[in-house]
Amino acid sequence: MSKKYYRMALVAWALLAGTTAYAQNDQTLATQTISRAKIEAHIGFLASDELKGRNTPSPEQLIAARYLATQLQCYGAKPLPSLGGYFQQVKFKTQKKSKAKITFSFNGKNFEQNTHMVAIEGGNMSADGAMVFMEYGKEEEFAKTDVKGKIVVVKAGVGEGTDARQWFADGRKKHERAAKAGAAALIELYNNPMIPWRFLVNYLGSDQLVLDKGTGKDAPGSIPHLWLNDPDWKEAAEMKTDAAYTAKLSITGMEIVYASSPNVVAYVEGTDPKLKNEYVVYSAHYDHVGVGRPDVAGDSIYNGARDNAVGTVTVLSVAENIAKHPTKRSALFVLFTGEEKGLLGSEWFIENSPIPHKQMVYCFNSDNAGYNTTKAATIIGLKRTSAAPMIEQACKAFGLEATDDPAPEQNLFDRSDNVNFAAMGIPAPTFSLGFTAFDDAINKYYHQPGDQPDNLDYDYLQKFFSAYVYASRLIANAKEIPFWKEGDKYFEAGKKLYGK
Ligand SMILES: [Zn+2]
Repeated sequence: MSKKYYRMALVAWALLAGTTAYAQNDQTLATQTISRAKIEAHIGFLASDELKGRNTPSPEQLIAARYLATQLQCYGAKPLPSLGGYFQQVKFKTQKKSKAKITFSFNGKNFEQNTHMVAIEGGNMSADGAMVFMEYGKEEEFAKTDVKGKIVVVKAGVGEGTDARQWFADGRKKHERAAKAGAAALIELYNNPMIPWRFLVNYLGSDQLVLDKGTGKDAPGSIPHLWLNDPDWKEAAEMKTDAAYTAKLSITGMEIVYASSPNVVAYVEGTDPKLKNEYVVYSAHYDHVGVGRPDVAGDSIYNGARDNAVGTVTVLSVAENIAKHPTKRSALFVLFTGEEKGLLGSEWFIENSPIPHKQMVYCFNSDNAGYNTTKAATIIGLKRTSAAPMIEQACKAFGLEATDDPAPEQNLFDRSDNVNFAAMGIPAPTFSLGFTAFDDAINKYYHQPGDQPDNLDYDYLQKFFSAYVYASRLIANAKEIPFWKEGDKYFEAGKKLYGK
């Protein structure tokens, strides 16, 4: 077609389409920037052997981060002025435990490292003096207990449930409370049948990467956090709140190595003079687990194509689309580091947020383990926010069914970066490749060297990406921003955050 005829055709189209053009706009616009070739190219690069599985932190992971920042820059997405660039540096420290020695004594009993104790966090120290026991170390318990300079002992968990991840999360909060209140150390008594002690020692006895929140007076890094094996709560039964005890704790030989690695962040301003103050967050983690034990074929590179080059590229896709065709609300694109080490990049992002939490009105996260159907997209938390109809509509438009979490027992909602947003009250589902169960078809690739770009179905991915971008546009242009369904675990937190 010549240029002249092309222009004539355009005028005719505009006249014919008239007002109905707007209704179809978002779907049409969604497809304009997506191509199978681009999807394949991005995933091929991010999950290439050269990037060695994008471990946090590693030189290859930095190459991935630079690649992402460069793409965002090409699209026209801007760095946040408060960050002064596309990177938000996340500070880490690795606790090298191989030469560490921990001893604890109380009431005439001596507790040894590994047999009884394991360090979660903390450098070398020694304390000899007062000890205080409280039940679970909840906020209200800390509020009425004088812990200054004392070794604080509490039970792990909060007395409900045995989900080990939750126990870790609870522990981190207690650790922060203890540090803030000026305690000398925090010891949690451990009694969880879900993870036997020897597994825990195996896991925590090796080098651990954690966030480096500094060693200032209030920082959790300023005091150690340990777990002490207490099957049947025997020790707990001996200890009583309000009683005066003395104890001795010493940690020597702990080596700490510092490192950093970035979250990649960019934004596009919204077109609506009022709604542009609201940001929809499009997020995914770009790290994976690096190089590890070889599989039967001798492959030791864990490429992480599904987990989570796919999610990373969904964010690139929506960034390219919105940079070209901005939505009413502003868009914030965030690619997290350190997810595989315990959702660390998103925890850092929320705690050092470059944008006030209440201005982040929705988080549309993408994370993946694998897929066992090419007829669906699975949205973890689909029915938990009022965006469900929009996401369903977007999937349907590209021949996919939007399905909700088929494996609640896996607790997937709380296992990806979206949970750090949800905990603040920000509605945050996770968009994932279709799966009907967390079965062998998923486990075949999940955290395996075989999770590679050459065994993905790119025709399916094109639909999947189109649906994500279309759903994103619907959410970002919606008259009213979707919110938690009433009664949801995070509903109250959301109401509080947005003053609803
Ligand atoms: Zn993973």
